[in-house]
Amino acid sequence: MATLRQLALMKVQEREMIIPQAPSLKISDYFGTQVFGLKEMQESLAPSVFQRVSGAIEKGTKIDMSTAEEIATAVKSWAMSKGASHYTHWFQPLTGSTAEKHDTFFDALSGMEKFKGSALVQQEPDASSFPSGGIRTTFEARGYTAWDPSSPIFIYDQTLCIPTIFVSFTGEALDFKTPLIRSTEAINNAAVDICQFFDRNVRKVTPSLGVEQEYFVIDKALYATRPDLVMAGRTVFGHNPARGQQLDDHYFGSIAQRVKQYMKDFEIEAWKLGIPVSTRHNEVAPGQYEVAPLFEEINKASDHNLLLMDLMEKVADKHNLKVLFHEKPFAGLNGSGKHNNWSLITDTGVNLFQPSNSARENLQFLCFLVGTIKAVYVYADLLRASIASAANDFRLGANEAPPAIISVFLGTTLNSILDELEQNGNVKIEKGDNMYMKLGITKIPEIILDNTDRNRTSPFAFTGNKFEFRAVGSSANVAGPMTALNVIVADVLKDMKVDIDNEMEAGKEKKIAIVDVLRKYIKESKHIRFEGDGYSDEWAEEAKKRGLSNLKSTPFALDALTTKKTADLYKRHRVLNDKELHARHEIRLENYIMRVQIESRVMGDLALNHIIPTAIQYQNKLIENANGLKGLGLDHRAAIETIEQVSKHIESLKANVGEMTEARKRINKEEDIVKKAKQYSTDVKEAYFEPIRYAVDKLELLVDNESWPLVKYREMLFLK
Ligand code: ADP
Ligand code: MG
Repeated sequence: MATLRQLALMKVQEREMIIPQAPSLKISDYFGTQVFGLKEMQESLAPSVFQRVSGAIEKGTKIDMSTAEEIATAVKSWAMSKGASHYTHWFQPLTGSTAEKHDTFFDALSGMEKFKGSALVQQEPDASSFPSGGIRTTFEARGYTAWDPSSPIFIYDQTLCIPTIFVSFTGEALDFKTPLIRSTEAINNAAVDICQFFDRNVRKVTPSLGVEQEYFVIDKALYATRPDLVMAGRTVFGHNPARGQQLDDHYFGSIAQRVKQYMKDFEIEAWKLGIPVSTRHNEVAPGQYEVAPLFEEINKASDHNLLLMDLMEKVADKHNLKVLFHEKPFAGLNGSGKHNNWSLITDTGVNLFQPSNSARENLQFLCFLVGTIKAVYVYADLLRASIASAANDFRLGANEAPPAIISVFLGTTLNSILDELEQNGNVKIEKGDNMYMKLGITKIPEIILDNTDRNRTSPFAFTGNKFEFRAVGSSANVAGPMTALNVIVADVLKDMKVDIDNEMEAGKEKKIAIVDVLRKYIKESKHIRFEGDGYSDEWAEEAKKRGLSNLKSTPFALDALTTKKTADLYKRHRVLNDKELHARHEIRLENYIMRVQIESRVMGDLALNHIIPTAIQYQNKLIENANGLKGLGLDHRAAIETIEQVSKHIESLKANVGEMTEARKRINKEEDIVKKAKQYSTDVKEAYFEPIRYAVDKLELLVDNESWPLVKYREMLFLK
């Protein structure tokens, strides 16, 4: 009888390519057709109502009930004309994905379709199953969702989706979106104050975000045969294919065709939803791809990334594929990240991270550049915590991009400008001097986009006109790390404003005051700047000397959420109160424990029920063979040797799985969640995952290919 693996492999051979149909050749014909955007609002609402909504979107003003009522009516007709029968509040609970609770427009009582303003604005999901880190149980039993007009309403799967925040009745944020919105307010306030030194017309500063999303794609049937992929999102076993990253185009070519159609298909769907994707077909590892949309206002970009991931999963299914967002689905191959391209843009249209031809504007540019560097320096541990997850641990610091040590990369030119600015601290600026020239600030326009070196090993790099936070994991909700980034930069900019004001009060001319503060900040935060190879052991050593953290495991990295420094920071900017912060720490620890638990169980089950029985069968064959050879008086040392090797690995597997199970039992009695998570990290994951994997992967090489139960790496990654 054929094994599951063989059946799946046969299935893959029979697959046919599915060609997607675009509604039109021109993308502009259907871009955003599923979105109730400003244009749709303007067309369907009375001018006075439209004014109130657009005001709410731009300035965050409140929408009153009668306005909500009119919008609800308009949005219902629009949705029904597009074939939607249901509506849902779409929100982002702390589990990391999105949640929905669908209701139909149809009202059986009246026999008509209805949608009230109150249903648009506020709803109470049955939220008892969402993690709240103790907030709801302690304070209030229920949470509710409330419309976030700054992110557009859209139709997905014949359902009208209303982006919402999710908060408890006592006002605590139970989601990712609420703190993100609060943090954009914090950075807006702080950044506008700095801009005021240079341009009085700036009223608003908004963070922008462009998310480069990496992912793997494999055939659905192969995926289904791997309980580790299904349960844990990654392969816990699997020997590296000989080919490794140096892929063979011939093998690769065929899967690429199916994946290409898949990409086209989800692009079409994304465009309908107003997500400005532009897929790039570059693969870093076999089976790995990347998609990047054009950058947008951060809240929208963050929503769009979540929606895109959901869409990619749905469309993959149609193509008999499975998309893997896990940070490290395959050991030994490149992991997946989500590069967060972040910048700050004023309502006057200036990107504050864009060097310009005007020296005066460049001083402003330097304020934001240096402010961000200092923020990363002061709050490196918080930034590290913001990207910590069980899955990302397999990527960060595991000899690939990027390391777990947080540092900032600037590129040679910019780096030397900062050095110069710092070192020429003694340069006296006399009246009538060209300060900008004397300080080397006029040189900045020379660095154009292409001139910023591409250091792929840096977790946080300046790339010409934006920062790129590369350490974010591919499965993460970017709202978490982006909230942290907004807040830490807001905090430093706030200090900067105070420092500059103080210098001016002490009698310094404005631009000299600014330069002096910048010099001070550059000096203070020098240690966070690193231009070299982030993978190297030398860097780990150097970083240690500089006093930078190198936290490789999530529960340890999350300690940064428990410090007074972090709590004060989030409170100061009204982004998270103590309860909300504490809840997040707890939920993330719980999540970590659960992940490691699942992986450990999957490993145990696979080893005991799949691998060991197969290895014993093979061992018996070898014994028969050895006996046969012996009976004939032939040399049977080779057979004996293999039998010994197989036995050794079986013994080691049994012993390690047994001990690991005992360790889990012991740790599960621990009541302190911090200790428990740390023990899961050291006493389960670190102690047993590698040795167990080692034995299984060795057995994969020894046991005959025919009977091996798990689909192999080369089959998942190189097969047609
Ligand atoms: P890379 O060279 O890293 O591939 P790209 O220039 O292609 O970089 O941009 C990568 C992402 O950065 C895209 O999503 C793009 O829209 C985004 N991006 C470009 N400029 C900005 C900006 N000013 N702010 C935020 N994101 C930006
Ligand atoms: Mg990039």
